[in-house]
Amino acid sequence: MKIIRYKKSDQLSDDVNCGILINDEVYKINGNIFSDFSLGEKAAVLKDVELQPPVDPENIIAIGLNYRHHAEESGLRIPDRPIIFIKATNSLTGPDTDIILPRMAPDEVDYEAELAVVIGKECKNIEKDEVEEYILGYTCANDVSARDCQIKIDKQWARAKSFDTFCPLGPFIETDLNPDNCQISSVLNGKIMQNSNTSDMIFDTAELVSYLSKNMTLKPGTVILTGTPEGVGFARKEPVYLRPGDIIKIEIEGIGKLKNTVRAENHDN
Ligand code: MG
Repeated sequence: MKIIRYKKSDQLSDDVNCGILINDEVYKINGNIFSDFSLGEKAAVLKDVELQPPVDPENIIAIGLNYRHHAEESGLRIPDRPIIFIKATNSLTGPDTDIILPRMAPDEVDYEAELAVVIGKECKNIEKDEVEEYILGYTCANDVSARDCQIKIDKQWARAKSFDTFCPLGPFIETDLNPDNCQISSVLNGKIMQNSNTSDMIFDTAELVSYLSKNMTLKPGTVILTGTPEGVGFARKEPVYLRPGDIIKIEIEGIGKLKNTVRAENHDN
């Protein structure tokens, strides 16, 4: 099942609707996606809606250095427990929107293809074999990062990962997916930059959710970014950073493609 959040193009209000996508048709949801719901009537076709981030997250939690080959390219040791950081919720943006290069740090903005887990039911202190029943589904994420702030200036990650628009999510939440064996890639202006499989993760999604739940309550709608594979821009022999006009796509097998365009920040935003 594919869960979306959307606005209808002909809609006058700013209301965001939740729906189920079946082929290219959008159906309403009766009830709450995090508790009981049923499929309602057909509401629109996909081309007539503006997709929003597929969840309005309670928290955005992210994991650093969770792919073996990415830890190697970063010149860092394989961690012996998950490295947790937070992306502020203002960084959220949807598919087909702009990633804005911030005026104060526009030069070293990097992409990171990531599988995102969406929590469906509140959980605390759950074991790995219990995790599945607490997950709503999975979506594509781009953990956009200002490397100058992250590596040279701040030496920690909160600001570098939390500029506005630095967390594109979408296009929808796929509820039926084996997260442990999916091809994951990023494509910049048509060129493949990252191409790996979630099987290269150091801590798989069930381990991550169980570990996080032993540290904090995970509320419905919490989004967990599970780390990125090798091929990010800063670790290349000739570093590659996002520039105005670039098109960056994150693709995960079994989910779909998350596409965003890059632009400079202007005086209004
Ligand atoms: Mg990341």
